[in-house]
Amino acid sequence: MLIDSHAHLDDSRFDSDRDAALQRAWDAGVRMILTIGNGSGPDQMGCGIPIADAHDWIYTSVGVHPHDAGKVEERHYAQMTEYSKHAKVIAMGETGLDFFYDNSPRDVQRDVFRSQLALAKDLDLPVIIHTRDADADTEQILKEAAPIRGVIHCFTSGEKLAQCALELGFYISFSGIVTFPNARPLAEIARRIPADRILVETDCPYLAPVPHRGKRNEPGFVADTARFVAALREMTLDELADQTAANFHKLFAVKTS
Ligand SMILES: [Zn+2]
Ligand SMILES: [Zn+2]
Repeated sequence: MLIDSHAHLDDSRFDSDRDAALQRAWDAGVRMILTIGNGSGPDQMGCGIPIADAHDWIYTSVGVHPHDAGKVEERHYAQMTEYSKHAKVIAMGETGLDFFYDNSPRDVQRDVFRSQLALAKDLDLPVIIHTRDADADTEQILKEAAPIRGVIHCFTSGEKLAQCALELGFYISFSGIVTFPNARPLAEIARRIPADRILVETDCPYLAPVPHRGKRNEPGFVADTARFVAALREMTLDELADQTAANFHKLFAVKTS
C-alpha cells in the first residue's frame, strides 16, 4: 500500500485532469493521499475538504504556508479550529519557515509558525512542517514547542536538522528531490534514518521525481520516489511501501472504516 503523504490536489494545474490523475495514482498502487489545505492563502485553507469529501481514500490538512504568513489575521485561527473538527482533516499544515523566498517577513513567519504549533497542540493534531534555508530557526521553534508530533515534509535540510527532528520524535518525508542526481547528501540521509520514521510524498504538482523531472508532478509518481528510496535502503518497493504506510497511520492516526 503506497501513500502520497503530501500533495496539493487543489492546484489549478489539476483542473483539467484531476480525476484522471487520481485514477493513474490508484493504478500505480497509491491507496491514500493527504492533500494539503493551504490553497493560495489563509482564506482558502479549506480547499482540501471538498476533495477529501469526494474520495474516501483522500484526507486533508488545514494551515497557512510560510509564504502567506503575512496575510494571517486572528480570525484565521478560529477558522482552523472550526475546520479541524471535520472528519477528514487529520493534520495542521503545512506551516513553517521559508527564508529562501522570504515571501513574508521573517519575524511574521516565526510568529505564525509558533501560533500554529500551539494551536496544533491544543487540538491534538500532528503538524506538517515546511522549512527552507531556515534550519536553525526551525530547530529552535520546534524545540520550544516540544512535545509535539509531526513531519518535516519535502526534507532538503542538513544532517543536524534531521537529527533534531528524530530526537523530537518527528518523521521525515522525502519528495522527488531525493531522486535528483545532485542530491547525494539527501539520499544519504534517506538511506540511514530509522525505518519507523520515514515517509514519502510527491508535493505535487511541484518537484516531479526522476524519470518525470520537469513535468507536472502527480500522486502516482510517489511510486518512483518510493522505488528509489527502497533501493537506497536495500528493501523491496513493497517493503518500503508497507513501512511508510504504517508510519503514516501511526503519525496521523487515520480512521478508516
Ligand atoms: Zn512545502
Ligand atoms: Zn507542499
